[in-house]
Amino acid sequence: MDTIEKMIQKKAYELGYEKCGIISIDLMDEYAEKFNERIEKVPKSKMFYQSQQRLIKPKEIYPWAKSVVVLTAAYGKYKVPKELEGIIAKSYLFDVRVDKNTKEYQNNRELEKYMQTLGLKVETNQKFGVVGMRWAAMKAGVGIIRRNNFLYTEAGSWVHLEAWVTDREMELKETNNVPQCPKSCNRCVSACPTKSLSAPYTMSPTECISFLTSFGGRDLTKEPLSKTFGKCVYGCDLCQDACPMNKGKWKGEEEFPGLKELTESLTPENILNMKEDFYRRKVQPKFFYLSEEELWKWKVDVLCYMRNNYKENYKELIINACNNENIKVQDMAHFICEELCLC
Ligand code: SF4
Ligand code: SF4
Repeated sequence: MDTIEKMIQKKAYELGYEKCGIISIDLMDEYAEKFNERIEKVPKSKMFYQSQQRLIKPKEIYPWAKSVVVLTAAYGKYKVPKELEGIIAKSYLFDVRVDKNTKEYQNNRELEKYMQTLGLKVETNQKFGVVGMRWAAMKAGVGIIRRNNFLYTEAGSWVHLEAWVTDREMELKETNNVPQCPKSCNRCVSACPTKSLSAPYTMSPTECISFLTSFGGRDLTKEPLSKTFGKCVYGCDLCQDACPMNKGKWKGEEEFPGLKELTESLTPENILNMKEDFYRRKVQPKFFYLSEEELWKWKVDVLCYMRNNYKENYKELIINACNNENIKVQDMAHFICEELCLC
């Protein structure tokens, strides 16, 4: 007869999860120390991490919690549309946290129900996590955290993490066969255009392109780092793409539900011309970091892209954006017009 831990793991594998480990909630205590160490190392990150304080006190928030179930779902199986390569980060293109059409989203719901039928009280936060998930995954033997701060399994860093706290004392170590970073490797740090990743395991989140093109970067006209964004419009994969441990890990064999139909609309030119109604219905539900009112931010990010990768046929688009109904889009367009002497 299987233990309850084994039953959960078996169910997870049946559903298609790559890994499933379970640890005592006590193993998350050390995470709080690491979390504070990170802030001390990069004091300017304090504001950013303040919003994540809840992750260091799961025992306070869920006083009944005794263990953490942590899993990975690999997404390197999906095809990246050529038009969006390097423009939108892969984890956002294949984001299964809110997309109910995906098998992964449905698996998450099914696994939760399964644990409840086993008599467990469980809690998750699909969007932002219920604990420090990379830490939990490492402690559970799911994978290792590399110098670029990402968790790696045999599928590379191309994995979504999910976790639940449960009210039962359980433990089940997962196994992995992932080698450590080569001693002298520094490719991820060298690949980071903003120097947000300034040294191994040292990161300034507010200087990361993923932050500056979504929650942050509210005035890119005053953000000198915006000149280093290269092709990135929304998110950045550069420190993962550069990693030799990701070599050959992206399979790209399957279509991601609904992405083919949306691809054309997500090219920089079409984002700049996107209508609010289309954005609210088709784009925002998938890329939830920006709200229904923030199509302007996509447009500003696109203008930044057009400046950084300037081509003659962008000229008219940038000039037209000077008359956009949104003042922030106008400001960015005027700023670029001046910078590139377009008007
Ligand atoms: S995601 Fe991009 S900007 Fe952020 S740390 Fe990695 S390479 Fe640097
Ligand atoms: S690029 Fe090198 S140092 Fe950075 S995470 Fe990959 S293997 Fe480790």
